[in-house]
Amino acid sequence: VRIKDSLYDVHLGENILQEFCERNAEAFQKVDQIVVISDENVWNLHKDYFQQNFSLPYKIHLVPNGEACKTFESYFNVQTFLLQENCSRNSILFALGGGAVGDLTGFVASTFMRGIPFYQIPTTILAHDSAVGGKTAINHPNGKNMIGAFYQPKEVLYDFHFLQTLPETEVRSGLAEVIKHALISDENWVNEFLHLASIADIQKRELLVWLEKGIRVKAQIVELDEREQSYRKYLNFGHTYGHAIEASVGYGKITHGEAVMIGLIPALMLSELHGKVEVGYAHKVFGLAKKLGYQFQHVLNCSFEQLATFMLKDKKTTNGELHFALLQKIGEPFVKVISMEEVKKCDEQLRKWIE
Ligand code: NAD
Ligand code: ZN
Repeated sequence: VRIKDSLYDVHLGENILQEFCERNAEAFQKVDQIVVISDENVWNLHKDYFQQNFSLPYKIHLVPNGEACKTFESYFNVQTFLLQENCSRNSILFALGGGAVGDLTGFVASTFMRGIPFYQIPTTILAHDSAVGGKTAINHPNGKNMIGAFYQPKEVLYDFHFLQTLPETEVRSGLAEVIKHALISDENWVNEFLHLASIADIQKRELLVWLEKGIRVKAQIVELDEREQSYRKYLNFGHTYGHAIEASVGYGKITHGEAVMIGLIPALMLSELHGKVEVGYAHKVFGLAKKLGYQFQHVLNCSFEQLATFMLKDKKTTNGELHFALLQKIGEPFVKVISMEEVKKCDEQLRKWIE
C-alpha cells in the first residue's frame, strides 16, 4: 500500500508471524520496547499460538473485548501502561485483534509521544478492511469513531490461522464488507457470492482469495485518496443507511457488517434508479443476504424518522445533503446527492420485502 510518504506491505497467509520475526529480528534490536495490545477473547483463544510464533521479546496489554475497548478510558489505560513500561519514541506497538483493537491501537500509536510505529495483526474477517488504509479512532459518547487520526501501520500481518475461531456472527459481519468490496469493483466476483446457499457453503480457500481481493480493492482506493476527499467515499457504499441502522439498533446489539449488509440494499435500489444497474439486482442481493442469515428484522425495529435523524448526523452528510455512494453499474461506483424522500421510498420498499 503506497500512501504519500508511507509504503507498507500486507502479508497474507498461514503461519506468517514467525517469518516476520525472523526478518525483523536484527532491526528490532534497536527498539527499546515492543508492546502487543489485544483483547481478552483473542488472547485467551490464541495466546499459545502467538507465543509459539512471535519470537520477539514483548509485553502484552489486554483491553476489553471488541467495541468496549474503543473508549477514552481504555485509550488512557493503554497510554498509562506504555508510560509505566518506560516506552519511548523508540518503542513499537502491535494490534492483535479485530477492527476495534486495531482502531484503538492505531490511535494510541498516532498520539503516544507524538507518534510511534505500529503493526496490525488482524484476527477477524472484517479487519481485512479496517487494518488497511490508516483510519484509526475511538468513540465519543456522542458518536462512534469521532476521535481519531489518519495514521498508517508499518505493516499488516494477516495470519489466517486466527480466523478459525471466529463465531458465525463475526464471519457474517466481515463477509458483508467483502461483498461490498466485490460490488464496488467486479461483477464476476459478485456472481461467486450469488451462487452461495449458506455461510457453511463457503470454502476456506475461496474465502482467503476473497480477502486478498478485498484488501486490493481497499488499498487501490485509499492510495488514490487517503483522506476521503473523493474516491475513498466509494468505500462508504451501503454505509449511509447501514450506519443509521447500526446506531438506531444500538452498537453491540448488531454487528457493523450486519448493518452494512442491510444498508447495501437501499444503496442498490438507488443504483437501479440513478445508475444503470439492472432492475431487480437489489432484490437478488437481498435474497442472497437472507440465505446467508443476515437479520433484516432489525429494520422493523427502527422507525424511518429515527434512521433519518442518524443519516443527517452522519459524517457523510454536509449541509443536510446526503452524499450516497452508488453504482453506475456493478463494479463502477460514483457519489450522488440523494433526497431524504428518495431514501424513504427505498426504506418503504425494503420493509415490504422484509414483511
Ligand atoms: P471487533 O474487533 O469488535 O471484534 C468482534 C468480536 O470478535 C470481539 O468480541 C472480539 O473479541 C472477537 N474476536 C476477534 N478476533 C477473534 C477470533 N479470531 N476468534 C474469535 N473471536 C474473535 O470487531 P471487528 O468486526 O473486527 O471490527 C469492528 C470495528 O472495526 C468497529 O469498531 C469499526 O468501527 C471498526 N472499523 C474500522 C475501519 C477502519 O477503516 N479503521 C473499517 C471498518 C470497521
Ligand atoms: Zn464498514
